[in-house]
Amino acid sequence: MDWREELRNNITTVDKLKEYIPLTTQEEADLRKVTDIHPMNIPRYYLSLVDPQERLDPIRKQCIPDAQELIVAGAMGETTGDPYGDDKHDKGNGVLHKYDYSALVVTSEYCAMYCRHCFRKRMVGLSNDRTVKNFQNAANYIANHREITNVIMSGGDPFMLPTKVLKKMLNCLRDIGHLNYVRIGSRVPVTYPIRLFDDELVRFLEEFNKEKALFVPTHFNHPREITPVSKEAVWRLRSAGITVNNQAVLLRGVNDKVETLVDLMNGLLRIGVNPYYLYQCMPVARVRHHFQVPLRQGVDIVDKARQHFDGYAKRFKFIIGHDIGKLEICGRVGNVLVLKQLHARSGHNEEASRLLVRLLTETGGWFDDLPEIVSF
Ligand code: SF4
Repeated sequence: MDWREELRNNITTVDKLKEYIPLTTQEEADLRKVTDIHPMNIPRYYLSLVDPQERLDPIRKQCIPDAQELIVAGAMGETTGDPYGDDKHDKGNGVLHKYDYSALVVTSEYCAMYCRHCFRKRMVGLSNDRTVKNFQNAANYIANHREITNVIMSGGDPFMLPTKVLKKMLNCLRDIGHLNYVRIGSRVPVTYPIRLFDDELVRFLEEFNKEKALFVPTHFNHPREITPVSKEAVWRLRSAGITVNNQAVLLRGVNDKVETLVDLMNGLLRIGVNPYYLYQCMPVARVRHHFQVPLRQGVDIVDKARQHFDGYAKRFKFIIGHDIGKLEICGRVGNVLVLKQLHARSGHNEEASRLLVRLLTETGGWFDDLPEIVSF
């Protein structure tokens, strides 16, 4: 089956969705309102993982719009369209350069699926001026900044580009000597594994990987997303010598249970994917209210899950991807949350590696919600 052909069968309208999932009149009306604001795009493969009779199904929550998306902010607090501060680090032509050593290139605004919890919701599936227009110019920026040791091709999903376009882009990066490695951030192993059944693509990635190390950070959130088909897609990357790392997000109603996290991390290891990050859900408009887990609750879930993990399963870091940089949530001592900053923005290198402490509250879901501790 051709991956482009199958993409045309994606479920993008409420009328089409009704053929697969029973909807009440109210749900149907709500869905029409939500999809006017943020489009729906669900591959048939991913929809087949949804239990159509279960309104609270964790797979459903990630792909089918919900009336709660009409709430811009809500019970969890203020929201923003750009929680990670991407806009401040936009160097033009698709390049975001936040940390000295990493450059991110927005290669596409399209994804195989539009995840309802996406932190780039303001861009994905919508036309925007962030996407790279001329990749050679983006590569020139990277070549001229010798402090950059790695590039993240992101979006949207780079694997949604035609293979020949992706080849051209990667070839522009191949000869930049100061790049140690390239990452292709993609959720297709989870949402649209058929894309990786393209032999031409996998052969090219294998050849590229011999010259410049390639990593694929992907995004499994729930153990039911690990299927024979996703396993095969991951295997195709691994057999090309590519390391696949997972960046999950802690999401209410999806994976906010100890046993779900345990099954997820162990399931990933079984298919050769490294648990790498577990992100705290960002305060994104139309996402935070119904997806974010309060930090106090989240840290306990993660700590309890860690008690069940072997050494490889517990290698992942629980992370706040903040405007000031990446903060690892180390744990809590009573009401005190202990964090360690892992990365700092350009020009703030003295902040990297510092320890931070904040007072946990019952409902605080984001670093800025937690009061500073004056003396400790
Ligand atoms: S695949 Fe990633 S970028 Fe695309 S909608 Fe899902 S979370 Fe967002």
